[in-house]
Amino acid sequence: MSDAFSAPGRFFRGNHHTHSTRSDGILAPEEVCRRYREEGYDFLALTDHFIGHYKYPIVDTRPYRTGRFSTIIGAELHSGATHNGELWHILAVGLPLDFEPPHAPGFEPVEGMESGPAIARRARDAGAFVAVAHPQWSGLSLDDARSIEAAHAVEIYNHGCWAGCDRADGWSINDRLVSEGKQLTAVATDDAHFYEPDHFGGWVMVKAEENDPDALVAALKAGHNYSSQGPEIRRIEVTAKSVEVECSACVSVIVQGYGQAAKAVHGLSMTRASVPLDRFYKSSWVRVTVVDAAGKRAWSNPYWREGFKA
Ligand SMILES: [Zn+2]
Ligand SMILES: [Zn+2]
Repeated sequence: MSDAFSAPGRFFRGNHHTHSTRSDGILAPEEVCRRYREEGYDFLALTDHFIGHYKYPIVDTRPYRTGRFSTIIGAELHSGATHNGELWHILAVGLPLDFEPPHAPGFEPVEGMESGPAIARRARDAGAFVAVAHPQWSGLSLDDARSIEAAHAVEIYNHGCWAGCDRADGWSINDRLVSEGKQLTAVATDDAHFYEPDHFGGWVMVKAEENDPDALVAALKAGHNYSSQGPEIRRIEVTAKSVEVECSACVSVIVQGYGQAAKAVHGLSMTRASVPLDRFYKSSWVRVTVVDAAGKRAWSNPYWREGFKA
């Protein structure tokens, strides 16, 4: 399987989880797009809450595209209950503007509504890149997350959930699903609403041949991305004995795998590291975290170790 570093093209920086006045954000769609554009982002997806209370918004952001900034049509989907009796939050990026609403009047589940797994499947079948949103914020169980079989990815960092309640993590769920053999990738997002410091804090770097919505969605589906709060990852090579990493100046390069397997290499202003895999004999997959001197992190997608035998 190719990764972001071996795929052709260049990296585009984007946030694909964002709200506007079309649901519970406080800035109009045009202003949200302007701010991301001026902050140096290459693309944005507005993903307003797709519920009846907001008239099932799928915001047409095509007017805010420029020569160097693209927008992807999307929504945060809500239908069905998780194990704790609360409403599903599922990110769908690359939706058609006429995606059919479920019966989801508000932020509470109601009798007879479409299930979370079903609406996720419908979104994927309609062409969207589908991610399980903010698992820690939602209090998802492993069974909940496992049930979204149509998911391409899990949100492993949600900046709004960090700013608003310190429940930003999705890796604990993603690591266990990947350990079951699910070929999930990972995305960091802002989930910005702009009423608290929930913006410009977590993004994806997507490798594509052009900054075009279809190319970006295809690249996300192919796993041609990494996630970041700041550091750049420039190359990752997984060999039988080590993981070789090139990145912007950092203080730690960490490799994680199945169960308790993890190994860190620390230093100052490191731009490359070789992380030995001696303790990864049970790991059919590995992933990489890069930490810079300010504590900002970047994360690779999981890598499956081809031909690996536990
Ligand atoms: Zn949400
Ligand atoms: Zn959201």
